[in-house]
Amino acid sequence: MQSRRQPKIPVAGDGANNKKKQTNTDEPGKPREPRMQPDPSRYPDDWTPAEHLGDGVFAFDTENGRRRVTRDIVGRMILLGTGTSHGVPVIGCACPVCLSDDPRDRRTRASAIVGLPQGNLLIDTTPDLRTQLLRESIGLVHAVAYTHGHADHLMGLDDLRIFARYLGHDLPIYCTEEVEERIRRTFDYAFDPVTRAFPAGGVPRLVFRRIEPDQPIEILGAQVLPVTLEHGKIRAIGYRIGRVAYCTDAHNIPPSSMRLLEDLDTLILDALRFERHLTHFSIDEALEFIAELKPTQAYLTHIAHAVGHARASADLPKNVDFAHDGLTLPLQS
Ligand SMILES: [Zn+2]
Ligand SMILES: [Zn+2]
Ligand SMILES: [Zn+2]
Repeated sequence: MQSRRQPKIPVAGDGANNKKKQTNTDEPGKPREPRMQPDPSRYPDDWTPAEHLGDGVFAFDTENGRRRVTRDIVGRMILLGTGTSHGVPVIGCACPVCLSDDPRDRRTRASAIVGLPQGNLLIDTTPDLRTQLLRESIGLVHAVAYTHGHADHLMGLDDLRIFARYLGHDLPIYCTEEVEERIRRTFDYAFDPVTRAFPAGGVPRLVFRRIEPDQPIEILGAQVLPVTLEHGKIRAIGYRIGRVAYCTDAHNIPPSSMRLLEDLDTLILDALRFERHLTHFSIDEALEFIAELKPTQAYLTHIAHAVGHARASADLPKNVDFAHDGLTLPLQS
């Protein structure tokens, strides 16, 4: 395997708050140019970089003569979806936001993908997963981490089938015990010994990796910190990677988790709508937590159709904005 360049993101072993230890070979403040060749260590052994199709999208030739294509997203988090469980527009709704021409008002279900040193970590598998990955030209997922087991974060799991085939091994799934139980019940065919004997691609081939809330874990060569969030009567998990934290689906952040979310460059936080809700932050509640945590920049996500992006943005504090599908954030400032 070729030698790796220095990743721009916290490698395993660095403290989540320990910015000084991280190695960054780029000049600070300079926008990151897409490299003209992808790092072969992040791709399956039989993929050979063949062509740069522009905008960081690469074609690969494989040993069996097939052609694959994917964007190289190392060092970045892309918000694949920023909508609440119904998505926006809501089916059959004629409200001004659902009829809006503003592309930022078209929100698929909430999820994100992170380019880590050894591959792409997908956070949640929404019912929109396939269209989200195609939209962003991301052709490869190396591991998945789940925030919780609600349907809008889970039901696209079957679309993971293709990645075990590409990678040549079962896909690592990072989740809590309760999410593993939900996955095993909901997608029982993936764990049936008869169906598992099908060639890769027939059923999702998954291998579970347990996460313990508030215990850092190495995933794909980076240190990832799962953070406990309160989401109605259940627990959801936020993920902190370096100085970026993705915290969707919460109506409260317990004090022990507040400490884990200090000193952030970027916080992505649940904010469903203007009115209060039992299981999600309202916009005002989210702003209160942001004011306490003081990230450099915050983005609100999991947004319902009550919120029109352009109009509602005008009332937000300077360091807060609504997220939108496709928003791309650096893992390091
Ligand atoms: Zn949700
Ligand atoms: Zn509507
Ligand atoms: Zn939820």
